[in-house]
Amino acid sequence: MNALEHQLTYPLGDTLPEPGRTVELAPGVRWVRMGLPFALDHINLWLLRDEADGRAGWAIVDCGITSDATCAAWEQVFADELDGLPVLRVIVTHMHPDHMGLAHWLTQRWNCRLWISATDYNAARLASSATTGFGGASAAAFMASHGLTDPASMEKIRARSNYYASMVPQVPASFRRLLDADVIRIGEHDWVCHVGYGHAPEHMSLHCPALGLLISGDMVLPRISTNVSVIDLEPEANPLPLYLASLERMRALPADTLVLPSHGRPFRGLHTRIDQLQSHHDERFAELMVACAEQPQSAADLLMVLFKRKLDLHQTTFAMGESIAHLNALWLAGRLRRTLHDDGIYRFSPI
Ligand SMILES: [Zn+2]
Repeated sequence: MNALEHQLTYPLGDTLPEPGRTVELAPGVRWVRMGLPFALDHINLWLLRDEADGRAGWAIVDCGITSDATCAAWEQVFADELDGLPVLRVIVTHMHPDHMGLAHWLTQRWNCRLWISATDYNAARLASSATTGFGGASAAAFMASHGLTDPASMEKIRARSNYYASMVPQVPASFRRLLDADVIRIGEHDWVCHVGYGHAPEHMSLHCPALGLLISGDMVLPRISTNVSVIDLEPEANPLPLYLASLERMRALPADTLVLPSHGRPFRGLHTRIDQLQSHHDERFAELMVACAEQPQSAADLLMVLFKRKLDLHQTTFAMGESIAHLNALWLAGRLRRTLHDDGIYRFSPI
């Protein structure tokens, strides 16, 4: 949790949309909130008044996971909150299940196109076909090589081979590609795509200069830090410098931008939040350097240093990914040495 959350402002106070209802944030911009079956129990989705091929309607930004409850909540939104107009396109910020999950159902339901970056589209298609990685035995072996060895966790991770597909059983068969700096006309306003790396393969945030709004996706969140993980698909990945550089580029946006995050409440204080996230990771780097100086450490050894609390399995897998991301960043920057020990575990010590 962000201990400096009080430095941000929440112009809507405690207002939250009821399930199946919306809150209007600006003319033609509506906020929807859907449930998630995790510790992070909700996702924010956005409706933008749109026009395409001579028809009036709505663009949806992000979808929620595939579940009966999410479909039912959408049906209520369609019935009561769209002013009787259709959905004309579905825009997805990135391929994670809570954002991508129902894209197949929504695009079929409304016979409309999915808009997403090409990298995230392809990653979603791979991940939703159960024969590929993103979990299962390869994830378990990768975690084990970084010190997560207790048999109960290993067994659960091995058994989770269809984790992504359970929430994203299908991906639409076609899409329209979003690229960094693309300007998309949505209804009466231009929205500019801002690519972000480190959290997802090619995350797209959307900025509307005229409305002063940023749909930040998961790149900037007010209460929690964005998950930046290394996974088994790319064991030597170095996503943290990519993430921090992407954040730095968002400083070019006006300081009074109203940020619409995927989790938490709309807030002002974009530049302050960027400062907070950068110092958060600087502190983590410093703590890891101290711990590794005492004795060589694996990513699993460092979970308590980084997270300072007991984690359930779902949280542990995310936390392992984050621990490895910090270690890879220090290793690939030449500050830590990585050594493969006789027990098959990588440990890190200062150079
Ligand atoms: Zn995400």
